[in-house]
Amino acid sequence: MKGLATASITTSAPAQRSNYDIAVIGAGVFGSWTAHHLRRAGKRVILVDSYGAANSRASSGGESRVIRCAYGLDELYSRFAHRSLSQWKDLGRRVNSTLFHPVGVLHMGARGDKSLAATAGVLAKLGIPHQMISQAELMKRFPQFLLGDVDQAIFEPESGALMARRSVQLLVEEMAQSGLEFVLEPVLPPSAKGRMDIVKTAGGRTISAGAFVFACGPWLPKVFPVELGNRIFPTRQEMFFFGAPAGERRFTLPAMPCWIAPDNLYGLPDLENRGFKIADDDHGPPIDPDSADRLIPKESLAAIRKRLGARFPAMKNAPLVESRVCQYENSANGDFLLDQHPSISNVWLAGGGSGHGFKHGPAVGEYLAGRILGTQTPEPRFSFASKGTVQKRTVY
Ligand SMILES: Cc1cc2nc3c(=O)[nH]c(=O)nc-3n(C[C@H](O)[C@H](O)[C@H](O)COP(=O)(O)OP(=O)(O)OC[C@H]3O[C@@H](n4cnc5c(N)ncnc54)[C@H](O)[C@@H]3O)c2cc1C
Repeated sequence: MKGLATASITTSAPAQRSNYDIAVIGAGVFGSWTAHHLRRAGKRVILVDSYGAANSRASSGGESRVIRCAYGLDELYSRFAHRSLSQWKDLGRRVNSTLFHPVGVLHMGARGDKSLAATAGVLAKLGIPHQMISQAELMKRFPQFLLGDVDQAIFEPESGALMARRSVQLLVEEMAQSGLEFVLEPVLPPSAKGRMDIVKTAGGRTISAGAFVFACGPWLPKVFPVELGNRIFPTRQEMFFFGAPAGERRFTLPAMPCWIAPDNLYGLPDLENRGFKIADDDHGPPIDPDSADRLIPKESLAAIRKRLGARFPAMKNAPLVESRVCQYENSANGDFLLDQHPSISNVWLAGGGSGHGFKHGPAVGEYLAGRILGTQTPEPRFSFASKGTVQKRTVY
């Protein structure tokens, strides 16, 4: 892979003033796809990021992410995921890189869980391929799992795993090759009221634009402390990559799907020989995305190892080969925030990915570009007004 758009990166140019239709601040998955769709609509866009596209501190900086269409009865996100999947595939073709692995996603249900049938109903309505699998069949098809209280599952054969960081970086590189200006500097928190004409960067650059999109993920509460300080909750999340025994092929492609277990544990197959990835989807403690140390404590490792061995006996003694600490940028209930700033009319807020946002990047970008250009009907669930100040998760 080539270096990320090195030719296009601009650092500080004091006193320089540039004019754009739209400035997008934040080159994670939300900001990058928003920039992409705005440019496709013919707009002059500048993209700015403090640390670089899909950097190690960003929520989009992880190795891989699950793309699934099943969202229980929540049709909105099933539609968004399905719409996004085709755009992820298109991106992979355009940049000539394997960004999506169609390994399938297995949603496992505990005994007596009626929600799988409801989920299957939504997938059927939307024409999304899926299979209901009984416990006996699961044991035959996926013998690497110890099922325990799992007695059925939904399998989405056409969903799977996205190479996350690389996808975002290649999308930005693709835009840079067709003239996007990318500025590697932090934008200072704005103080405008009513309307905003410029933002300033820490290095002294002034960027002038007709509209501004702040797609700052877990940094949104820092950029807009008054509006979002108590509406976006960044939480520390740990991810573990374990090494399967040499020659063991059941934990990598094509045998191993992405999977989600009833106890909130989930995982992805060993991709590109980086290890078998496993994590707990429960929210961790609050985190500062700038300054947090990203080391895994021994206690966390011991706890996850126990759960790994209980679900996958062959991985009981597997060594930890890599780990990551990332963060979710949760809204109160898990719905995205994709809306105008409440008091600055030409400022747009994009965030609240809440641990499930990555897959939706293309549809989020399309939606937000449409809102900014006035062609998209607002979805009430993405509004600023709907964002609560007390965490109570309902979207998974
Ligand atoms: C461990 C983990 C596992 C996950 N698993 C999945 C999954 O399997 N499937 C899924 O769909 N989703 C998943 N997610 C969620 C998904 O990754 C996030 O919702 C998504 O990446 C958020 O993207 P974003 O663009 O909003 O934020 P980010 O990727 O954090 O991007 C924000 C960007 O803004 C920049 N920025 C911030 N402030 C400024 C400033 N003042 N000036 C300039 N730049 C600034 C930052 O440098 C950063 O690059 C997971 C998340 C984590 C942490």
